[in-house]
Amino acid sequence: MEKKALVYTGKAKKLYQTENAAVLFVEYLDQATALNGQKKDKVLGKGALNNQITSLIFEHLQQQKIPNHFIKKVSEHEQLIQAVEMIPLEVVVRNYAAGSFSKRLAIEEGTKLVTPIIEFYYKEDHIQFLKVATPAEIVEIKALALQINQALSQLFQRLNICLIDFKIEIGRTKANQLLLADEISPDTCRLWDLNTNEHLDKDVYRRELGEIVPVYEEVLQRLLTAN
Ligand code: UDP
Repeated sequence: MEKKALVYTGKAKKLYQTENAAVLFVEYLDQATALNGQKKDKVLGKGALNNQITSLIFEHLQQQKIPNHFIKKVSEHEQLIQAVEMIPLEVVVRNYAAGSFSKRLAIEEGTKLVTPIIEFYYKEDHIQFLKVATPAEIVEIKALALQINQALSQLFQRLNICLIDFKIEIGRTKANQLLLADEISPDTCRLWDLNTNEHLDKDVYRRELGEIVPVYEEVLQRLLTAN
C-alpha cells in the first residue's frame, strides 16, 4: 500500500491517504507533548514504541470482538487503519482517581472509584459544534467505553499493571457504525505497576519523573510476554 498525501498532523502522529480511500497510513512520531503543547520534546524511539504497543492492544481488542479501526502494523513506525469520520469527543474512563479528576475533586490519586466513571470532553476546535453525536450514539459510546475498559483492565492486570484511567476516541463509518479509533498507549492511559505504584505512562514526562523510553519499553516487554 502506498503512502500518499498527508491529511492530518497530530501531536504524536501523522495520517496519510493511500490509493484506497477507505484506508489511511498512520506514522507514529518521535515526539512527546504535554500541557496542551506548551511542553514539547523530540524523544527518539517513542514513535516505534507507541506503534508497537498500540498495535498489540488493538489486536487484543479485535480478538475480543471490540469494533475498531485497526488493520495492521506495516513497519516500525507505521500502521494501516480504516478511514472513519472522527467524532470530536475525548472519552475518558476512570477506574481510580488521578490527574485532573483528583485536582478538581480533591480526591487523593489512587483512590478506587466504586464504579468506572465516564467523562466526555469536546475537542478544542469543536467546542461550539454541538451536534457531535446523536443521543443514541452517546449511549452506544458509553457501552463501548465500558466494554473496552473491561477488556483493557483484564489485559493489564495480567501484565501486573493497574489501569487507572484512559482516553479513547471514536470514529463513525460511512454505514454509521461506531468504531474505536485513534491510539491506546502509555500516552493515553495511566498505567501503574500493581506492586510498586510506579508510573508506566506519560505522567513520567508530564511530571518530569524521568526518561519515558525505558518506561514505554517496559510496557511493551510485558505486552510481548503476555501474548
Ligand atoms: N488524556 C489524553 N489526552 C488528553 C488528556 C488526557 O490521552 O489530551 C488521558 C490521560 O493520559 C489520562 C486520562 O486521559 O490517562 C485522564 O486524563 P486527565 O483528565 O486526568 O487529564 P490530565 O491530568 O492528564 O491533564
